[in-house]
Amino acid sequence: MTSLSRRGFLSAALIGLAPKSGRTIAGGFVNESQGLGHRLRDGGPFATPPRTRRAAVVIVGGGVAGLSAAWRLARRGVDDFVVLEMESAAGGNARWGENAVSAYPWAAHYVPVPGRAAGLVKELFTDLGVFDGVQWDERHLVHAPRERLFIHGRWQEGLDPAVGPTRRDRDQFARFDERIAQHRATGRFTIPMAVGTDHRATPAEDALSMAAWLDRERFDSPWLRWMVDYACRDDYGALSGDVSAWAGLMYFAARDAEEAGPLTWPEGNGWIVRRLLERFGARVQTNQIAYRIEPRGRRWRVLTPEVAWEAETVIVAAPLLVATRLVDGAPRPRLTSSPWLTANLTLDRWPHEAGFGMAWDNVIFDSPALGYVVATHQQLRVQVRRTVWTYYWALAHQPAPAARRWLLDQSWSTLRDRVIVDLGRAHPDLHDCVSRVDIMRLGHAMVRPSPGLLSDPSWRALQAGHDRLFYAHSDLSGLPLFEEAQYRGVLAADRAVAVLGRS
Ligand SMILES: Cc1cc2nc3c(=O)[nH]c(=O)nc-3n(C[C@H](O)[C@H](O)[C@H](O)COP(=O)(O)OP(=O)(O)OC[C@H]3O[C@@H](n4cnc5c(N)ncnc54)[C@H](O)[C@@H]3O)c2cc1C
Repeated sequence: MTSLSRRGFLSAALIGLAPKSGRTIAGGFVNESQGLGHRLRDGGPFATPPRTRRAAVVIVGGGVAGLSAAWRLARRGVDDFVVLEMESAAGGNARWGENAVSAYPWAAHYVPVPGRAAGLVKELFTDLGVFDGVQWDERHLVHAPRERLFIHGRWQEGLDPAVGPTRRDRDQFARFDERIAQHRATGRFTIPMAVGTDHRATPAEDALSMAAWLDRERFDSPWLRWMVDYACRDDYGALSGDVSAWAGLMYFAARDAEEAGPLTWPEGNGWIVRRLLERFGARVQTNQIAYRIEPRGRRWRVLTPEVAWEAETVIVAAPLLVATRLVDGAPRPRLTSSPWLTANLTLDRWPHEAGFGMAWDNVIFDSPALGYVVATHQQLRVQVRRTVWTYYWALAHQPAPAARRWLLDQSWSTLRDRVIVDLGRAHPDLHDCVSRVDIMRLGHAMVRPSPGLLSDPSWRALQAGHDRLFYAHSDLSGLPLFEEAQYRGVLAADRAVAVLGRS
């Protein structure tokens, strides 16, 4: 397990009993950093750094945005930078783990094959040898079958319910597709969003929720509404009533209708993080929490308990909720973040099931959670005896603060049982197959693109940055996606290079 020290892991490990069985299931909570996060929120206390060091650029946060900023700086010939990451491993929401069976993701697990607007993503994948300018290396494209749905007591291929929707429902699906095609054709819905969205004007769809948009457009099919809710939970960790129509439409209209991918790996987007760390990992310092960023003459000072860094320019790639508390004088937009739980289940054998065979992405229709992806799916071996499943649960059905409190109050064994019971709808003998369940609680996993976010003046001010300090996080787009994190990191790096006066 790369994202946790061995000592930390052993102390977190617990032994428990699965429901309905005497079989012991090991596991525990991993990557628990709520304590540090809350200390940042409350303003400390943190030790005063005993020494000072200098760097041209200090990047705070080693998630995809911070590492993308580093990638861009390195490509532009700037090598006097440092990345400060508070956790024991870099990657943020693209962190991964590994055991004797497989590597597996802790959160982000795929990147769609980049469309026309995502030139930077193509550039990265060309650099990493995944794309040769014409073709994608098939080892990195998801293998078939890609997805399946458990509904009416059995698995079916694909996520569109085959049995259940009436003629009227199907007409609404067709009309919805038409409306999406019209929106796609406007060119306003792109990922990264900055390519298609005029930053001086707020899109009208930001003012209402996705659910209100569906009402306005007279889409009342429960099947269609389930699909849209699923999409909003999947990308934003929230129901369609809690995200803007702009974000909801973005999910459908910004992607090509027929996409070959996505690109995926056993460790999810951790594969990309690994490749980036191979290049400049020596400049990434882990267990380094920045607790204050303040101006000092023409420079910025970034304080960690060990070092006071003095930098010509700073890139703050921490989530906005944190970033706005670190930086002296930062504007503070009203942000809601979505709480999530992810779990990695190690299986000693495959459980029984009915219907269409195992896919990469496996969704259960009447579950509050999002289902699971199979970490061993990309293996070329015909017989895979043991496997790891990554289970995703956005706690979208209660208000975010209540869901966060509930999540923190639960014991590991309670949450483990919830996960196994939920998956047991589709795999009744699952508890006899699982040997380990590790759980990660992400109280503030991602920013929620709530209605009105794009018109918040504080949020807009953050996009501009301060004097010689630039924010870089997917939160700045309001869309928690790899492409947005990469775009924000690269943009901040380009601004930093301009400050340094280097070509
Ligand atoms: C459960 C889940 C599943 C997801 N799945 C996908 C997916 O499949 N595909 C996809 O495209 N996106 C997915 N995402 C979205 C994901 O958030 C983005 O793709 C992307 O990884 C975000 O990168 P980031 O750098 O913007 O933010 P983060 O990943 O939040 O990185 C911020 C970093 O800053 C560090 N940090 C914070 N405060 C400090 C401090 N004070 N000092 C030092 N360091 C600090 C954090 O530890 C973290 O490493 C998922 C998100 C979640 C939660």
